[in-house]
Amino acid sequence: MARRKRHRDDKNRAYHWARERESPLIAELFPAFESVVIEMEFADDWGDMSPRSRVLNREDGRDYVHIECPNRECVDGGFDLTGAVHEAIRADLSTAEGQAQSCQGWQDRERIGNHRCLTRLTYRMDIRYVAETEPGPNS
Ligand SMILES: [Zn+2]
Repeated sequence: MARRKRHRDDKNRAYHWARERESPLIAELFPAFESVVIEMEFADDWGDMSPRSRVLNREDGRDYVHIECPNRECVDGGFDLTGAVHEAIRADLSTAEGQAQSCQGWQDRERIGNHRCLTRLTYRMDIRYVAETEPGPNS
C-alpha cells in the first residue's frame, strides 16, 4: 500500500527555517520597528484557499520572511516576502498591499520539472513603530 499523501516537503521547510533563524532581527536593521501583521490570501486557477496571517514582533521577528505554500502537494515552493516587508519599513509605511511572485515550486512530486505550482499570494501589512521617546523627565 503506497503512502503517497504524506510528504509535506520537509526538506524545503527545514531549509527556510534555518535561513530565517540565521537572518538578523528586523529590529536590528530598523530600530524603530515594533511589529508587522501580514494578512495573506491565496488562490490558484481552481479557486481561493484559506487565508492566513503572520505576525512579526520586535523581539523575535526575523528579516527573512518566507511563507509556506498552502498547496499541500507543492514541492520546493513558497513565497518570499522579505523584500516587501523591508521596503515597507524602510519607507516608513503603516500599511502596504501587494502581490508576491507566484509560487515557483512544483505542483506535485509527479510533475517536478514539468508543472509549476503558481499559487498566488496577495498580502496586506499593518506595520507599527516604536513611539518616539519623550524628552528626559527632569528638564
Ligand atoms: Zn506552491
